[in-house]
Amino acid sequence: MAQGIRQAHFDVVVLGGGASGVAAAAAAAKNGRKTLLVEAGSMLGGELLSGMSIDGLLNARGEYVCGGISDELLEECRRMNGFVGPIHDFRLICYVCVDPEVMKIAVMRVLERYGVTPWMYTLAEDVVSDGGRVKGLVVVNKGGRTLVTADYFIDCSGDGDLAVMAGAPYELGAPDGELQPLSLMFRMSNVENEPLLAFARDNPESLAVGESDYIRAGRTDAQLAMELYKQGQPSVFFKSDGPFLEGAIERGELAPTALIMIMPTSVARKEVCVNTTRVAENIVGMDAAGVSRTMTTLMEQVWGCSEFLKRKLPGFENAQFAGLAPRIGIRETRRIMGDYVLTLEDAVGAKKHPDCIAKGAHHVDIHQDGVRQVRIAIGNGGSYDIPFQCLLPRQLDNVMVAGRCLSATREGMGTARMMGPCMAMGQAAGTAAAMCIDKALPDVRSLPIRELQQRLREQGAVIDGVH
Ligand SMILES: Cc1cc2nc3c(=O)[nH]c(=O)nc-3n(C[C@H](O)[C@H](O)[C@H](O)COP(=O)(O)OP(=O)(O)OC[C@H]3O[C@@H](n4cnc5c(N)ncnc54)[C@H](O)[C@@H]3O)c2cc1C
Repeated sequence: MAQGIRQAHFDVVVLGGGASGVAAAAAAAKNGRKTLLVEAGSMLGGELLSGMSIDGLLNARGEYVCGGISDELLEECRRMNGFVGPIHDFRLICYVCVDPEVMKIAVMRVLERYGVTPWMYTLAEDVVSDGGRVKGLVVVNKGGRTLVTADYFIDCSGDGDLAVMAGAPYELGAPDGELQPLSLMFRMSNVENEPLLAFARDNPESLAVGESDYIRAGRTDAQLAMELYKQGQPSVFFKSDGPFLEGAIERGELAPTALIMIMPTSVARKEVCVNTTRVAENIVGMDAAGVSRTMTTLMEQVWGCSEFLKRKLPGFENAQFAGLAPRIGIRETRRIMGDYVLTLEDAVGAKKHPDCIAKGAHHVDIHQDGVRQVRIAIGNGGSYDIPFQCLLPRQLDNVMVAGRCLSATREGMGTARMMGPCMAMGQAAGTAAAMCIDKALPDVRSLPIRELQQRLREQGAVIDGVH
């Protein structure tokens, strides 16, 4: 396999240019290592470019639980007037909204700052390994095949491609084959805040609010709707079993969905992102034909929903359809089994671990078919620790995973898959790879965790406290 192809060498190779891969590559390069970032698609940033809110950066109390590379990305967005800000959903979480068009530039600026080499349009198709040690990654693009050798590899492919090709064990979806649905985000501009928020305030029974004891804090739906109104941001979630959506789904005006989630993307364009479409056929994300087949359905759902909003939702009367996310969103594929498996109990119990390298704070969020969705809050508005061992695939010495293919149960992944913790895990993996090389360590498990934690703290990561 490795004969007759070109060769290249880097210190660290990161597979996958989504939220976790961007952070991993930036961190490895920031810590002095020659780093390659391999991405099959044409853009770097993954779902950071879709218009969705960045969840899991803050806990429900509004405290930042992630920092470092994510701060650098947000700061770049702010400089380009593309930072909307932290927002409270008065339902379960606080999140951060940015302009996804500006984020495209922010991602490239941060990667460029540290000298990461990006190879887009490039698919990883095989590994060359020797026992538990990966020697090289075989990638293919229009220029042909290349064997990229490196000391350390970080799998941020979402699907755990590299780790699986190297022999790591994994799990996929639920035991009965259930997988979270595929979705396509879209944006609408020229949305008027005041009528939208007044409608929300006056129709609290249609809203998804106060779903955790911490956030409800004894308040009625009407009081929480008033908080949304006072916040002044076009951030409103309509629930499927509330009067606004229920009838529309029954009448066939809208495809069945758990929620319509509206969140801001640009103040200047009066633009929001809408998260609502879904195809729940348990399609495996690696099945390119299966995923591609859903595109027409998803687009028709997008169009149907945008027309519905214009017809029915105050504030949207003169709104314009403003664009689609760059790709179909895949929530769930493989979970690589590592030295520790993050669980539901870890997350909802806001459990702390001595080898914490990242935090999560988003509720366990498992979208299902029809109008169903599992949502379980993190205890007491706090955060849980993600142990370093969740990044260490069993049986592999010089490979780490980060992002949604971390080592977790389905429920653990259902919270840690958010972009905040994905970036934090990526930063930890990139930093760890660089430190292993600096210290000439034979494998990643030899890295003293205290030293890694100290370096992460020095570089802005949040790994202590925050409830
Ligand atoms: C519909 C949807 C809604 C969501 N809503 C939110 C939200 O509101 N807020 C939030 O914070 N999170 C949300 N999430 C979750 C979050 O966006 C993702 O879990 C997270 O972005 C995953 O990041 P990642 O880097 O782990 O993986 P991905 O973003 O999946 O990135 C993996 C990258 O690796 C590349 N790749 C994979 N295999 C190969 C290969 N063999 N060769 C080359 N390249 C490869 C892919 O092209 C991809 O770009 C949502 C996800 C979806 C799908």
